[in-house]
Amino acid sequence: MRRPFIAGNWKMNLNRAEAVALAEALKEKAAGVDYADIAVCPPFVYLDAVAGVLKGSNVKVGAQDCYFAGNGAFTGEVSVEMLKDIGCEYVILGHSERRHILGESNELTNKKLLAALAGGLKVILCVGEMLSEREANQTDDINAEQFFGSLAGVTAEQMKDVTIAYEPVWAIGTGKTASPEQAEEVHAFLRKLLEYRFGKETADTVRIQYGGSMKPANAKDLLGQADIDGGLIGGAALQADSFMGIIECGK
Ligand code: PEP
Repeated sequence: MRRPFIAGNWKMNLNRAEAVALAEALKEKAAGVDYADIAVCPPFVYLDAVAGVLKGSNVKVGAQDCYFAGNGAFTGEVSVEMLKDIGCEYVILGHSERRHILGESNELTNKKLLAALAGGLKVILCVGEMLSEREANQTDDINAEQFFGSLAGVTAEQMKDVTIAYEPVWAIGTGKTASPEQAEEVHAFLRKLLEYRFGKETADTVRIQYGGSMKPANAKDLLGQADIDGGLIGGAALQADSFMGIIECGK
């Protein structure tokens, strides 16, 4: 049985006061949660303030992206070293909004992932197909391509610091959730890819989160599936009560 891992992706939302208030509320409400790992990923500019509030609590802090190079002349980017410096433990990489809005490739995601792992960050690697790809029966091909491409050069040992997030693009922020069966089908496929690429022991231990309009009302059924080990939550992570409602479904 894998321990559930619930992470909130705050995306480009909230102001400083709201981010701090949400972190304070979560710190208090999640204090007694001993059955799941929890993380929140605020925008870069609020990371330091949120990490300060959550220091020593059981809510860990992650970034929504990072750059692959070390500190230097990379205007606008944020390095792994900087994220570590402010107490960041996780980083989300390959989110569909970065792939499809910012045009990030598997190759770039892979460079970031290798740098993040080498620098001591844990990675939440997102993969997922678009609606047109699902309708063209390319779901497995797209997820496999993103999986192998983003994880090139990664060892089985390094996979202890990687969580996969299956996020069907058509379900993100749309209110359309994949049914538990649809999600489980892809999670089981990703588990097979993990076994093929890294061996059974790794496949049995790496957690695969589901992301895409997960809410307290649908979380129990999704988290009840054999290969769904947690959630990457967008909209419902912006309020302490709805995020906690999902966490409680991981019990
Ligand atoms: C996400 O941001 O990764 C996400 C899954 O968003 P939402 O829960 O709003 O669909």
